[in-house]
Amino acid sequence: MSFLELLPAKNGEEPTMQFLLEVVEILTSYIRKTFDRSTKVLDFHHPHQLLEGIEGFNLELSDQPESLEQILVDCRDTLKYGVRTGHPRFFNQLSTGLDIVGLAGEWLTSTANTNMFTYEIAPVFVLMEQLTLKKMREIVGWPDGEGDGIFSPGGAISNMYSVMIARYKFFPEVKTKGMAAAPRLVLFTSEHSHYSIKKASAALGFGTENLILLNTDERGRVIPADLEAKVIEGYVPLFVTATAGTTVYGAFDPINEIADICEKYNMWLHVDGAWGGGLLMSRKHRHKLNGVERANSVTWNPHKMMGVPLQCSAILVRERGLLQGCNSMCAGYLFQPDKQYDVTYDTGDKAIQCGRHVDIFKFWLMWKAKVCFYLKAENTEGSFLSALITNVVPIFSYQPQHTNVCFWYIPPSLRSLPDGEERRQRLHKVAPKIKAMMMESGTTMVGYQPQGDKVNFFRMVISNPAATRSDIDFLVEEIERLGHDL
Ligand SMILES: *Cc1c(COP(=O)(O)O)cnc(C)c1O
Repeated sequence: MSFLELLPAKNGEEPTMQFLLEVVEILTSYIRKTFDRSTKVLDFHHPHQLLEGIEGFNLELSDQPESLEQILVDCRDTLKYGVRTGHPRFFNQLSTGLDIVGLAGEWLTSTANTNMFTYEIAPVFVLMEQLTLKKMREIVGWPDGEGDGIFSPGGAISNMYSVMIARYKFFPEVKTKGMAAAPRLVLFTSEHSHYSIKKASAALGFGTENLILLNTDERGRVIPADLEAKVIEGYVPLFVTATAGTTVYGAFDPINEIADICEKYNMWLHVDGAWGGGLLMSRKHRHKLNGVERANSVTWNPHKMMGVPLQCSAILVRERGLLQGCNSMCAGYLFQPDKQYDVTYDTGDKAIQCGRHVDIFKFWLMWKAKVCFYLKAENTEGSFLSALITNVVPIFSYQPQHTNVCFWYIPPSLRSLPDGEERRQRLHKVAPKIKAMMMESGTTMVGYQPQGDKVNFFRMVISNPAATRSDIDFLVEEIERLGHDL
């Protein structure tokens, strides 16, 4: 069979249905395997191996159209050599899990294949986005869910929006005249904050040197007094990020104390809840974000803690109109003011993009199906996790605030070595070696990194509802098995 037989070909309906049913068969078989613990998380190959081609799987683009039979084989192989991020033993990323309702939403979204720029071509999705953003703002705690927002391609972009609109709020003329219209501005963020804040300062013309890093306490939370000390050092202080759930430690900055300082010095307060924002849905854990309602803007990634399929991230803004003012260009071919409907629903000009993917539907659908997303957060408490991990050395001596658990594995050969440079250097190599072996054997995946003066340690993180206690035990046993003789 060839693509020429598929719709829009004459009599193409039957072959199209047959082809798509076979694709669905491939997808459902993959989904079944994803949740099956007897399958591997990945079948690792080096880039050169994949490029050379394995067992009939060839990445090269051919000069001739391939048969649909070959296309189906390619679909199967593409999944086969990928990583099963929904596998119960995949602990590598903050966005994990394979939500079935969300997946159905993603399939429908692709089928609808439309673009978020106007109500004209995405009427239902635009309204869903408006309603969902309002709900999220209510949960943040802004009166009547008032404010503004937009779904963006990820937390990094949502954070970038926050810096842009803060600048627009205080120095709107930068939109037309550029940075020369503003005094020398500085931004503040935790030394543990996500690197996207730094990227935003570079990309938006502040310069990374004008992003001031704030010291943190032993749990990785910003020390508010350090902010105040640095604010009075000169320059015009514009913007502060408080991170709600840092990427590595899972720490929550004290938002209320930071908000007090922001009010005192008239600075924009952004809360980066890309990772921890999901806890706002939890009655039990929401207190970790106390003060979030005082923020001027909030990043919240449903594609992390809430398990919505990638991508799904929102930037929420307390003051209406700033997004539009900052970004609108009023392109005449899209945003005609004389349409027959209420054109305030043509929300696309608030974005820095032109075309925008429909990220809302899967989230809206999951919200409808589950409502109580928070159950997940309540079941995967950090304290519960750290109690399970006993045979390794936690890098802190207290309970984590989120589901991140950071630890070293000390192989027997290092256990009697005194603390010092040699031990540090050797320990630094342990996690990458274990990780490499783990990927070769394909049984599980977990991340590692150094942080500050701490040599490479593992960051075990749970945001996958499929993971159970026995999967966590499995990870620890696997680390011991692989690392025992290092
Ligand atoms: C993951 C993360 C981001 C970036 O989000 P993306 O969706 O990956 O762009 C930003 N901030 C924090 C705290 C994060 O953990």
